[in-house]
Amino acid sequence: MPIADRIRPEIADLEPYTPILPLDVLAARLGIPIGQLVKLDANENPYGPSPKTTQALANLATIDGPLGRLSMAIYPDPNQSRLREALSGYVGQHAERILCGAGADELIDLVLRLFISPGDAVIDCPPTFGMYSFDTGVNGGRLISVPRHADFSLDIPAIEAAAEASQAKVLFLTSPNNPTGNLTPPNEIARLLRLPLLVVVDEAYIEFTDPSASVSGWVERHENLAVLRTFSKWAGLAGMRLGYGVFPDWMIAQLWKIKQPYNLSLGAETVAIAALDDLAYLRANVARIVAERARLLERLGEIAFLTPHPSQSNFILCRVVGRDARELKLALERVGVLVRYYNTPLLRDYIRISVGTPAQTDAVIAALQGTGDRG
Ligand SMILES: *Cc1c(COP(=O)(O)O)cnc(C)c1O
Repeated sequence: MPIADRIRPEIADLEPYTPILPLDVLAARLGIPIGQLVKLDANENPYGPSPKTTQALANLATIDGPLGRLSMAIYPDPNQSRLREALSGYVGQHAERILCGAGADELIDLVLRLFISPGDAVIDCPPTFGMYSFDTGVNGGRLISVPRHADFSLDIPAIEAAAEASQAKVLFLTSPNNPTGNLTPPNEIARLLRLPLLVVVDEAYIEFTDPSASVSGWVERHENLAVLRTFSKWAGLAGMRLGYGVFPDWMIAQLWKIKQPYNLSLGAETVAIAALDDLAYLRANVARIVAERARLLERLGEIAFLTPHPSQSNFILCRVVGRDARELKLALERVGVLVRYYNTPLLRDYIRISVGTPAQTDAVIAALQGTGDRG
């Protein structure tokens, strides 16, 4: 038997992942200087991270610290103790209930590794974040998709029926949801927690809405609830790969067994601690993004071929009416404005625009107007 035929069959059956182009490659292809691109396609923070994070990183590389440059030669703390302690203050949960990952993405995979044997069912509620289906595939799980209503609210009875029929082990909810921007009402989460499965509530964008919408405080009362968070969006640290979760005690004990010991790099740990030490700065930027979201929504509403959806997050999903959404994305790209297009059945007629700076709002609106009514 050829060696290539001996890999796990569920991996052999997966579709390859389409990587996004690095920004410098895209800029070269478009013939536009990288600094002139208006990057509104990945919900990144236009204000970047706190200056304290860049300073902390620079300090690591100097010879002034107690270990000098050797600090980088030494493995990082597998227990993530300092960061979990700092996060405990930020989330208001015991450090024993918190585990950090190289992005929330790593924790999605880790949770599925804990629960899923090949063939086990996982439920997601599209349109939603793509990593739930991606990691279900990687783990040999069977994805059961329960589509949302036309207003993007959850179809609760359909989720309950699917859970029963498939004996699903994990349900992913996202609040606020990406790419639709709406919150999942806490009473709906409470109802779904009665199902005999793990409910993962992904709060990647919770900082952009009313903090009382978070259910992280419920974890101590529900043994089947896990809450995921990330530094990628609100703290401007997507490139450093930093996420964390709040997990029930029984579950975190199991997760510790399977986490790669050195999953967080020293650089990631260092910038996360520095970010949590500069909350006023970061919260001011979040407030600017939230204010700009209202202005962007209003301006997008004036574009004849768009129907923007109100959002509790740092992006706005727009239905493209009377013209091709993919063509529109490409027309914007040609003038250096990057927005997200999804080639999926539920989102074929939509684009998602991240909330940027006021100047970026003006640029995307001008570009949209410039595309006229063509194609
Ligand atoms: C961006 C995003 C994440 C990914 O977070 P990382 O920490 O960058 O891996 C997780 N969930 C949702 C819904 C997201 O949109």
